[in-house]
Amino acid sequence: GPESESFTLAPIGYVESDYPDKFGIPRQPGLAPAADARLILVPPYNDPLTVRGLDDFSHLWVTFIFHQSPERWTPLVRPPRLGGNRKVGVFASRSTHRPNRLGLSLVKLAGIDTRHGVQLRLEGCDLVSGTPIVDIKPYLPWAEAHPSAQAGFAPEAPALLHVIFSQSALDVLTTRADSATLHALIEQVLSQDPRPAYKRGEAPGHTYGVRLRDVDVKFRALQNDEATTLEVVAID
Ligand code: SAM
Repeated sequence: GPESESFTLAPIGYVESDYPDKFGIPRQPGLAPAADARLILVPPYNDPLTVRGLDDFSHLWVTFIFHQSPERWTPLVRPPRLGGNRKVGVFASRSTHRPNRLGLSLVKLAGIDTRHGVQLRLEGCDLVSGTPIVDIKPYLPWAEAHPSAQAGFAPEAPALLHVIFSQSALDVLTTRADSATLHALIEQVLSQDPRPAYKRGEAPGHTYGVRLRDVDVKFRALQNDEATTLEVVAID
């Protein structure tokens, strides 16, 4: 019967993004709008005819493979949103460890280049560079937006942390042609608190590293009273 058939997917393209590593990537699209990416179609899908009419849409659904996740999956997962200690069903989560390893992100389309094959410019995507893409569809807000929908254990956007930059980090930024967008990208990514849930209690002063674009960002947590601030210590 149909339930025992299997289906083969071949990527139609791949993403080149501001995220060289999984670590630090916001957990959903749109949370770091300064993140740029290119979705590069590969033959035979890189024919400009495949995207005719797409430039009239502002947002796209991108289906992709969590290629950096193991094929192994379990029925229960621990969403970071629940502090990493409560479990929900894999199909009640957006976990990257799931059967078929399919991901789905709603992203902003910033433009289409058809000079050499087909490249879509995306804003705010949550994909590691190199992610294989298996489909693209235009987003239909009148059918697909449900602002008052109930969202289980993730009812609203996570609270943002305050982010500050050391003088030496600011000095590095001023030397760069992309200083404004890189500053925004670092601030948006760190404000999501990329520290692993189980490490948040770690010794104050512990330095974490996250790679964004072509730089290595070193940061640490500063704790005063109830509030945590992340400080960008260095940009290399
Ligand atoms: N919006 C998508 C979805 O719901 O299917 C992705 C949600 S998933 C929780 C987002 C995380 O996936 C990112 O924070 C990043 O660490 C991870 N990720 C991004 N690209 C990946 C890839 N190609 N393989 C494995 N993990 C990836």
